[in-house]
Amino acid sequence: MRALVIGSGHNGLIASYYLRKLGLDVVVLEATSRIGGMTESEVVGNAVISRASYVLGLMPQFLIREFGIPTIETEIFQTLEYDGRMIPFYRDQERRRRLLNSLFPHYSEFEEKIFKMKGIMEELALTTSPPSREKIAEIAESRGVPEIVKETSIHFLDRYLPRDLHRFFIYPSMEDSPSYLVAYFFNYWSLVPSGMGTVSSYIAKKATGEGVEIKTLSRVDEILTKGNRVQGVKVKGKEIKADIVVSAISPVSTFSMIPEFRDFKLDPGRGGWVKYNVVFKDTPKIREDVKPYIEGILDFQVGEVVMPSAVDENRGAHVLEFMGDRDEILSIFKGEIKYEEKIDVNYATKYYLAPGGNLNHLPMKYPYLFDGRPMKGWGYRTPLKGLYLSGAGTYPGGQVTGIPGYNVALTVKEDLRQGF
Ligand SMILES: Cc1cc2nc3c(=O)[nH]c(=O)nc-3n(C[C@H](O)[C@H](O)[C@H](O)COP(=O)(O)OP(=O)(O)OC[C@H]3O[C@@H](n4cnc5c(N)ncnc54)[C@H](O)[C@@H]3O)c2cc1C
Repeated sequence: MRALVIGSGHNGLIASYYLRKLGLDVVVLEATSRIGGMTESEVVGNAVISRASYVLGLMPQFLIREFGIPTIETEIFQTLEYDGRMIPFYRDQERRRRLLNSLFPHYSEFEEKIFKMKGIMEELALTTSPPSREKIAEIAESRGVPEIVKETSIHFLDRYLPRDLHRFFIYPSMEDSPSYLVAYFFNYWSLVPSGMGTVSSYIAKKATGEGVEIKTLSRVDEILTKGNRVQGVKVKGKEIKADIVVSAISPVSTFSMIPEFRDFKLDPGRGGWVKYNVVFKDTPKIREDVKPYIEGILDFQVGEVVMPSAVDENRGAHVLEFMGDRDEILSIFKGEIKYEEKIDVNYATKYYLAPGGNLNHLPMKYPYLFDGRPMKGWGYRTPLKGLYLSGAGTYPGGQVTGIPGYNVALTVKEDLRQGF
């Protein structure tokens, strides 16, 4: 039986590996000349940059172990600049809570809630049927955290932390979404040696080792159907037949390739993010109060920064990656710039083929949460037999989690067992 996976982002690659493990012949079709999608490293001279995503934190440990993905787990994983001082988040829970509680008396209570919510989400993460809001509410109620879906992030945070601290825990555009999202993003983030491309290259290596074929420069233009069944895809005018097609690209793009789906409307939104990747000629002069915290994510008032070269000897040069106000951030890290690139929404629309430049494929808000992502009640299946969806636009959502890639293979397995 032949399966095609559209898109070689980390989710497509994970899906390909687990589909192959089911005994299918698997081919991944990638539009560009690169693999990894938004999980890629770029080599510039002798410097290695994480081009788009830059920290790993949401991928379950079992996937990290399965693919042998290396991580750099620093003692301080994140530092916030607040009220003129730097506040480190230690990986050690006791140390972290002691410090944070001395500054914000309700911090421990806040974190307890977050971890309870995360526990529920972890239990519901690996599934072929994403949970409804009502189901989550029911479980959350019984575990003493009803606010997970009943309260917006802004109201939840207001109960524990000052308003101007919120943006460290939730993107301002998501403040109206349920507090579930604060828990989604709260994590022990790590850097990855040689950048995020290591994540996708390790998965790809394991998948190809099992017999998966990855074809680059193979943009799918059309998904072929007959009756209510998928038949294959069209690449550069050529038909490729398959019994199963897993689309691990933005659902907006997938829908545009199927005449039967053109009436289903999805809105990828339009964010305003900008990421800069900078290589300095020599060691930059770093603001004195920032130096002790350089090993983790630095959350300044003016943006989010990592200096991976401070902890990763494979980076080959002094590398700074950040999302935020360029000039303000470069006044904290001063030095002669050898290379600089800026990527933004317009760039991502063309380069990552992500409609709306949405780095999560679809907004992380209603109606695209839980079993509403991307369409109410679909999960990873579609009304067309043999056509499945994966990627950041499916449950549980965006970022480098690998969960949609894993879950879609679980779904195919379930259907194969039932005679397909
Ligand atoms: C600037 C930036 C910073 C980020 N930072 C982080 C971070 O630090 N941590 C984190 O966890 N997440 C981060 N993210 C989000 C995260 O990178 C993405 O949500 C995640 O990588 C999406 O993975 P995916 O496999 O679902 O899809 P993608 O990575 O989008 O991969 C989809 C693939 O499909 C290909 N494709 C598209 N259309 C077609 C077609 N028609 N035919 C064939 N192939 C096609 C694309 O070329 C691409 O390779 C960031 C994203 C950006 C842009």
